[in-house]
Amino acid sequence: MTIFPIACFLDNYIWCIQVENSLWVVDPGDASPVLEYLHQHSLSLGGILLTHHHADHTGGVNALLAHKNVAVYGPEETNQWATTLVAGGSTLDLPIGQAQILFVGAHTRGHIAYYIASAKALFCGDTLFSAGCGRLFEGTPEDLELALSCINSLPADTKLYPTHEYTLSNLAFAKRVEPDNNAIVEYTQWVHAQRDQEKPSLPTTLALERQVNPFLRATSATIVQQVSEHAKRPISAGLDTLASLRAWKDNFRG
Ligand SMILES: [Zn+2]
Repeated sequence: MTIFPIACFLDNYIWCIQVENSLWVVDPGDASPVLEYLHQHSLSLGGILLTHHHADHTGGVNALLAHKNVAVYGPEETNQWATTLVAGGSTLDLPIGQAQILFVGAHTRGHIAYYIASAKALFCGDTLFSAGCGRLFEGTPEDLELALSCINSLPADTKLYPTHEYTLSNLAFAKRVEPDNNAIVEYTQWVHAQRDQEKPSLPTTLALERQVNPFLRATSATIVQQVSEHAKRPISAGLDTLASLRAWKDNFRG
C-alpha cells in the first residue's frame, strides 16, 4: 500500500491510497487531476473517503462517480455525496485496511477523521494542519480542544495527512508565539528546503506536531505568556490559551 498526494487548487492535497491497481482518494475537491492520474497509471478508482462537507473537499465527487460508481464514505453533513454515512467511534473494513472513525467536529460540526492503524495513518482533513489547525467555521474552542485531544491520543509515530499545504505560514505564527522553540526553527528550514524543490511538507507525524504545533502546546508557559501579552489580560493555560491562539491566528499576517 502506498500513500501519496495529488495537488489541486492553490494548496489542496487529495491524498491517494493505492493497493495494487486500485486507488482510493480522500476529499477529492477536483476530479480532473484524479482522473488524469488514473488514466496515466492504468489504475481503477476504488472508493472515496470524505472528512467534511466543504466544496474544496467534495467538489470532484460527482464527476468521479460518473467515471466509476464506487462507494463514498462520509459523515452525515456530506449526505448529498456519501453512499455510506459513518459516525465517530465506528470502524470500516476497507480494502485499504480497517479504518477507525474519529469524530473531530470543530472546523465543521460533523468533521470526521480516518485512522488506518495498519498504516499508522490519520487522514484528518482540515482539523489539524502541520504547525496549525483549521479555522472554527462551525465549532467552538471547546470542540477544538476535544478534537485535538482525540488526535493527540493516537501513537506518537502516527503519520498525519492534512488536506492543505499551510505549513510555512503556520510556522511563521508558531515562531511568533514561541520564539525560543528550536524545533520550530529547525523544522522551518527543512520545510523551506522541501518547498524549494516543490515537494510537499506532508505527511507530518504526531511526535513532531507535539514539538512545533502551538495548538497542541496550549499549556506551554511561553505560549501562555505570549497570548496573555497579545490579549492584554491574563490567559490561563489550556482551553483559554487555545481559544486565544485560534482568535489571534485568524488575524495573523506573518
Ligand atoms: Zn474545510
